[in-house]
Amino acid sequence: MGLQAELEELQPVVMNLFKRSKRENRLSHGYLFHGPNGVGKKRLALWLAQSLFCLEQTDEVQVCSHCVNCTRIANDNHPDVHWLKPDGASIKIDQVREIRSELMKQGMESNQKVLIIDEADKMTVQSANSLLKFIEEPDAGTLLLFLTTNPAKILPTIASRLQPVAFRELPFEQLVKKLEQVGISQQKARIFASLTGSIQEAKRLNEDEFFQEARNASVKLYEGLHHDGPEPLIFIQETWMPLF
Ligand SMILES: [Zn+2]
Repeated sequence: MGLQAELEELQPVVMNLFKRSKRENRLSHGYLFHGPNGVGKKRLALWLAQSLFCLEQTDEVQVCSHCVNCTRIANDNHPDVHWLKPDGASIKIDQVREIRSELMKQGMESNQKVLIIDEADKMTVQSANSLLKFIEEPDAGTLLLFLTTNPAKILPTIASRLQPVAFRELPFEQLVKKLEQVGISQQKARIFASLTGSIQEAKRLNEDEFFQEARNASVKLYEGLHHDGPEPLIFIQETWMPLF
């Protein structure tokens, strides 16, 4: 499945918004993508960047995913598309300064430039302020995309200048299907899907040793209580208590 088809299934409302804005030539200069991990924020930012440079787009398919521009952007190798993400625990002022000077230069191959800031809530106040000046006087051709799981942590002075775009959690059955596609058993997929609305979170739970142990212990206790497993009181004392 191509990126565009995948996103249309994952985030239909957001995709409709952007397809309409593009068609009507009314893209805003700055957006705040917010929603849980693993629901398509980064992939949609990639799609949007590609849609501005794709050489083989049609009215229906704005991103072909295989032309030279789509490929370079996907490989983070396009001179007018920049990604900014935390270096360690935060996005530091030096990182922002470097990107700012890149953005102030004339577009390398067009007048269009894109800056995607992943985990934008990790910007230090200093970094955010340094970018603020840039957001207040947007270069006509620069698209700024702020991505976050925690919009409350974005400085109000920045958030107020961006158009918010909410990404929904994945519906239960859709998430179960996606988890099965990456090799998680149906039984586990249903448990993870009931605990989280995101593929990434579910994968993390799947790899979490403590979570696996806790799950096994819960199953054993359940069986014990139904006289089909270990004696519950002994099990609680010997396994349950030390684990939790
Ligand atoms: Zn393309």
